[in-house]
Amino acid sequence: MERCVFCRIITGELPSKQLYHDEHLTAFRDIHPVAPTHILIVPNRHIASLNEAAPEDERLLGSMFTLARQLARQEGIADEGYRLIVNTGGHGGQTIYHLHMHLIGGQRMRHPMG
Ligand code: 5GP
Ligand code: ZN
Repeated sequence: MERCVFCRIITGELPSKQLYHDEHLTAFRDIHPVAPTHILIVPNRHIASLNEAAPEDERLLGSMFTLARQLARQEGIADEGYRLIVNTGGHGGQTIYHLHMHLIGGQRMRHPMG
């Protein structure tokens, strides 16, 4: 089993401001927020990037959107709007190779991040 930084945050081995945790997904605040709300939503199972997700992961991927919507509501930013980003690979600017979705909001976004 791989033990990347997000794997260790999910298990609590590394500290984070965790907002949500269930059998499949974890959400925690980004350590370097680019906006008032900046949350990372990750599958508990290590999937390096969207490129490594399988067709069988479709339900899991969908549940990341559902959780994003819930957290946006909880943060009070749902009505004003927010941005969801999944950086993938080098050109996509991915730095942590554990699939994650950024939920960013609380201010009007400029192109392309925050
Ligand atoms: P990426 O560039 O791969 O899409 O995003 C990785 C994100 O993870 C970055 O926004 C970065 O600030 C965040 N990050 C990196 N290391 C840590 C950490 O140890 N804890 C938390 N909470 N966020 C991290
Ligand atoms: Zn991992």
